[in-house]
Amino acid sequence: MSLIVQKFGGSSVSDAEGIKRVAQRVVDTQAAGNEVVVVVSAMGDTTDELLDLADQITSAPSAREMDMLLSAGERISMSLLAMAIQEQGATAQSFTGSQAGMITDAIHGKARIIDVSPHRVKTALEKGDIAIVAGFQGMSRESQDITTLGRGGSDTTAVALAAALNADSCEIYTDVDGIYTADPRVVTNAQKIDEISSEEMLEMAASGSKILHLRCVEYARRFGVPLHVRSSFSTNEGTWVLPNPDDKIKIQEGEPMEQPIISGVAHDRSEAKVTIIGVPDIPGKAAELFGIVAGAHSNIDMIVQNVSTKGTGKTDISFTLPMVEGKEALEALRASQDAVGFDSIDYNDQVGKLSLIGAGMRSNPGVSYKFFDALHKAGVNVDMISTSEIRISIVTHADLLDTAVRAVHAAFGLDSEDEATVYGGTGR
Ligand code: ASP
Ligand code: MG
Repeated sequence: MSLIVQKFGGSSVSDAEGIKRVAQRVVDTQAAGNEVVVVVSAMGDTTDELLDLADQITSAPSAREMDMLLSAGERISMSLLAMAIQEQGATAQSFTGSQAGMITDAIHGKARIIDVSPHRVKTALEKGDIAIVAGFQGMSRESQDITTLGRGGSDTTAVALAAALNADSCEIYTDVDGIYTADPRVVTNAQKIDEISSEEMLEMAASGSKILHLRCVEYARRFGVPLHVRSSFSTNEGTWVLPNPDDKIKIQEGEPMEQPIISGVAHDRSEAKVTIIGVPDIPGKAAELFGIVAGAHSNIDMIVQNVSTKGTGKTDISFTLPMVEGKEALEALRASQDAVGFDSIDYNDQVGKLSLIGAGMRSNPGVSYKFFDALHKAGVNVDMISTSEIRISIVTHADLLDTAVRAVHAAFGLDSEDEATVYGGTGR
């Protein structure tokens, strides 16, 4: 008998019909001879709606109460799903994160998992029940309070449970058939990827691909959990995210033995670009600036420093950071202007980031040329560049981002003949 963890996102359980459809799928999986643990997200846009509600009450909600509020979304979907499964003649029990033994640190809103002891889930399975667990939440042993793992955290709950229960596989259900070579909402001819390494998936998630939570991919790689990303709206085989490239066992006769050079194009509209103009070009100034930004709890992504303008002894430093962290970082930087001795700050949130990802690029020359040539032909001006062994990223104007994604996708031969199916989801 196999143990399967299935995670269903908000768009799969957005209404009663969706919940019944998911229940059917879960019951079928059990009937096929498997033990099943289900992790659910809140229905549809519930989490956003709860956030909006809190915003109408206060502009400075307490972090503890916010987690109490947000964790309620997953409780609604887990209990309704248990009822729907019971209605179909199977037995099920739902559990909150804390009942399922998801122990976290005490940092509200972005708690980290420190221990998973799913005793009650195991007992339910032994009884022949389907166990349903509320995603994205846990409890701090220290404070005894309910915590949440951060937006999109249900994927991480599923992987953590799969690892703790030593599950045979972890299926992440979403509203597209798997992971695509680009967001099918932007590139209609994107192709479904059959298999991708965790390493490449990590770069995709870190580069703005929203299909899997970055922490979920990290967790899966760390604990060697293979992920199967697929649609709850079809029975098509999805994408396997494999923690260890040696797990690549599915190469069929006639298929090339080497992996493709490029696995996909990711994009991100959530960052802003900050330029510090006229920074004294002497040792220590960059450290000083980034120390100030770190002190404002902001994560810097790309960095570019120009050579200093001749004779002035001054240079410009640009970097990107998450737009939501922009305000605090800017305030901290402005407050330090005299001490650091720079001339001015330019803040631009009309930027977009595009990343080309593929483990094969480290051994293939000419990838950068093809990439920049495609951008040039599409009339896309490049503002910033950064690279890793398996990624090239650029920042451009937000309005040009979709054009840039399509151009690069086509240039690397990733366009397929068919249009990708997007089953649902508002993308909110
Ligand atoms: N419901 C939470 C969110 O919207 C967690 C999740 O969907 O994974 O972020
Ligand atoms: Mg989600």
